Amino acid sequence: MLVVGSVAFDSVKTPFGEADEVLGGSATYFSTAASYFTDVNLVAVVGEDFPEKHINFLKSRRIDTTGLQREAGRTFRWKGEYGYDLNSARTLDTQLNVFESFKPEIPEKYKTSDVVFLANIDPVLQRDVLHQIDKPKLVACDTMNFWIEGKKDELVKTLAEVDVLLINEGEVRELAGEPNLVKAAKTVMAMGPSTLVVKRGEYGALMFSGDEVFSAPAYPLESVFDPTGAGDSFAGGFVGYLDNVRNFDGKYLRQAIIFGSVMASFNVEDFSLNRMRSLDYKEIESRYREFMRLTSFEDIAR
Ligand code: AMP
Repeated sequence: MLVVGSVAFDSVKTPFGEADEVLGGSATYFSTAASYFTDVNLVAVVGEDFPEKHINFLKSRRIDTTGLQREAGRTFRWKGEYGYDLNSARTLDTQLNVFESFKPEIPEKYKTSDVVFLANIDPVLQRDVLHQIDKPKLVACDTMNFWIEGKKDELVKTLAEVDVLLINEGEVRELAGEPNLVKAAKTVMAMGPSTLVVKRGEYGALMFSGDEVFSAPAYPLESVFDPTGAGDSFAGGFVGYLDNVRNFDGKYLRQAIIFGSVMASFNVEDFSLNRMRSLDYKEIESRYREFMRLTSFEDIAR
C-alpha cells in the first residue's frame, strides 16, 4: 500500500512530560503502525536537517522509503500541548517548511498501488498524489482542523474521491457545520466517503458504513503519556489490516477498527514512536483478544 503524509519533528508537552524535536509526522506514525500488517510505500518530504537514523528506523520496519524526497530547507515542524483532557491537542506552532514547495513524485513502482492512504497534509497535495495512481481499489484519508479551517473547498474536492475518511469527532462536526454527530456523519458522507470512521479519543471510535454503525471502545489504559499520533497509528492499524486481507466487506472493516484501536492504544503509552519501536506482533494479537472480551456480552435470558 501507499501512504503520503508528513514526516516531522514534533515538540510536545503533556501533563506527564515533554519531548523536544522528536520524530513525528502523520505518515511516520501511520506507516510504522501499518508495517505490522503489510508492506508500506512512503511518499513524503524531509529537509537537509533530517537525520539518517530516522530513515534507518523506517527501513528497519521494512517501509519502502524510495518515495521519501529530501529537499533543500528545514523539515516540517509541529508544536503542540495537551491539558489533563488528553483528547484534543492545542497546536502552538506549525512550520510547513519543505512542505510549502513540495511536489510529490510517485515512483513508477508505486503507481499500481491498490490501497492508498492520504495522511494529514494539504488536501491539494493529497489529490495530486491520488491522480498519479492507476485506479486504486481503496482510498482512505485523514485531515485536521488546520485544513478544515484553512482550505475547506480543496478538502471537499479531495473527499469526493475518497472511500474512507478517518476524522476526529470535533472535526466531523466542524466540517459538517452540524453539532449532532449522526447528522454530521451523514452530511460528510454525502461529500464522497462511503465509510466514515469517527475517532473519539479515550471514548473509542464509531464507524458509519452505508447504513451500518459500529462502535468500539478505547482500551482502558492506566498509563497514557502522549496522545500524539494516536489518530495516525489508528489509521495505520485500520488500513494496514485491510490491505493485508484485501477484503473491504463489513466484517473486515469491523476487525480493522479493532486493530486500529489496538495500535492507537500502544502508541499513547510513550512519547514519539517509542512504544512502537519495541512492539511485538504477539502483543498486538493479545490486545485484540482483550478487546473481544471487553465488548462481548450475552443475549437477554428468556
Ligand atoms: P495525530 O495522529 O492526529 O495525533 O497526528 C499527529 C501528527 O500530525 C504529528 O506527529 C504532527 O507532526 C502531524 N501534524 C500536525 N499538524 C499537521 C499539519 N498541519 N499537516 C501535516 N501534519 C501535521
